Amino acid sequence: MNDHTRLVQFESAPGDPFHPSNTPIYQTATFAQESATEFGQYDYSRSGNPTRTILERQLAALECPDDHDARAFAFASGLAALTAATRLLKPGDELVACDDLYGGSYRLFTKLLEPRGVVVRYVDFTDKSALARAFTTRTRLIHFETPTNPLLRIVDIRAVVAAARAHAPEARVLVDSTAMSPWLQRPLELGADIVLHSATKLLNGHGDVTAGALVVHDAALAAELAFVQNAEGAGLGPFDSFLLLRGMKTLGVRIDRQQATAQRVAEHLESHPDVKEVFYPGLRGSEDRELHARQSRGPGVVISFRTGSREVSCVLVESLKLFPIAVSFGSVNSTASLPCCMSHASIPPKVRTQRRLPEDLVRLSIGLEEAADLIADLNLAMTKARALGELHAQEVHVA
Ligand code: PLP
Repeated sequence: MNDHTRLVQFESAPGDPFHPSNTPIYQTATFAQESATEFGQYDYSRSGNPTRTILERQLAALECPDDHDARAFAFASGLAALTAATRLLKPGDELVACDDLYGGSYRLFTKLLEPRGVVVRYVDFTDKSALARAFTTRTRLIHFETPTNPLLRIVDIRAVVAAARAHAPEARVLVDSTAMSPWLQRPLELGADIVLHSATKLLNGHGDVTAGALVVHDAALAAELAFVQNAEGAGLGPFDSFLLLRGMKTLGVRIDRQQATAQRVAEHLESHPDVKEVFYPGLRGSEDRELHARQSRGPGVVISFRTGSREVSCVLVESLKLFPIAVSFGSVNSTASLPCCMSHASIPPKVRTQRRLPEDLVRLSIGLEEAADLIADLNLAMTKARALGELHAQEVHVA
C-alpha cells in the first residue's frame, strides 16, 4: 500500500456495531464486564481504550508497514514515553546517550535516572571510536536522536546498531525519531529496537496535543512495555488519541510541503551576509547530507543557524512577526526559538559549552506558510538585529 493511502485508509473502528467511518472517542473510564470473572477486551481505560488501540495500531503500521507483529504504545507525552522505556533499566545498568539531545531527556536522565543508580554516559555518536569505548557489558539502553536537536547532526543508525550488537549485545537501541516522524525515517527497519516520538510535534502537527509514542517489533519487549504502560498509568487518553489520529492523516502532505519550504528558507539563510552558520541536512555543503539521505526520505522542517551573538539572536527572534517564539516544533505554523534559553535551558551552561552548543543558536520550525512571506519576515528581522549589532560595536569602540 502506498504511504499516502496508508495514512487515511485504516480500520477506523473495528468491532463498533454502528460502523462509523471515523474513529469515535470512547470517552469512558470503565467498560461493563461480561461477568465478575470475565473482563472482556476492555475493562478500564488506563489498561486499554478502543480509541487508543486504533491510534496505536496506526502508529505501528506507519513505523513498520511490513511487520504485522510491530506494536506501538501511546503516552501522555514524549517524556512519558521515554520514562516508560527507561523503566526497562535497573540500578547498575548503563545507558549510553548521545551528547546532543533534547534538554528534557537530559533532565530525565540526570535528575531521575542517575540518582536511582543507573549510570549514564554521554558520547558524541558521530565519533565511532568514542562510541565503541562507551559500551560495556552493563550497557542496556542506547539513546540518540537523528538529526540531533538542535544542531541537526546526523547519526548513522545502521552503524550504531552494528556497534551495539558487537560491543553491548544486551543493549536495546532506542532512536528518538521526533524530528523525522515515520514519514521521513523508519529506524526499526534499519535495525533499531525501539522508536520514540514526541507526537506533540510532527505526528500531530497542529500544536493542540501533548503526546508520545514507543514503537517496537520484538514481542517480548512489547509485553514489557505494555506492562509498564498499564502499571505506571501514563497512557494517552481517548480524546487526545482521537486528535492525534486526526492530525496523522495529513502527515504526508504537511511534511512534503513544509520541508520544501524549509529547503528554500535554509538556502536563503545560507546566502544571507548576517548569518554565520546554517545547520540543515538538506544543504549541499552539509557533510552529513549523504548519510542522512541514505537513512531517510528528506531533511525535515527544522533549521538552526547562528548570528554570531546571543543578543543579536534574541532581537532577531523577538522581531519576527510570522514566527511566534515557542519551544515546540513540527506544527502547521512556523515557530522560532533560542534553544539555550528555552528547550535546552535544563542543560547547565557549562555542559552546553562542553558540547559546543552555541548560545547564539536560533532554531526555526517551518510551517505551511508561503516561503516568500517567511523569507521576507526573516529579512526584516535580520535588518533590525544587524542595527543592534552595529550599535553595540560602536559602543564597544567608544568605551
Ligand atoms: N524528544 C525530542 C526530540 C523533543 O524535542 C521533545 C520535546 O520537545 C521530547 C522528546 C519530549 O516530548 P514531550 O514534550 O511531548 O514530552
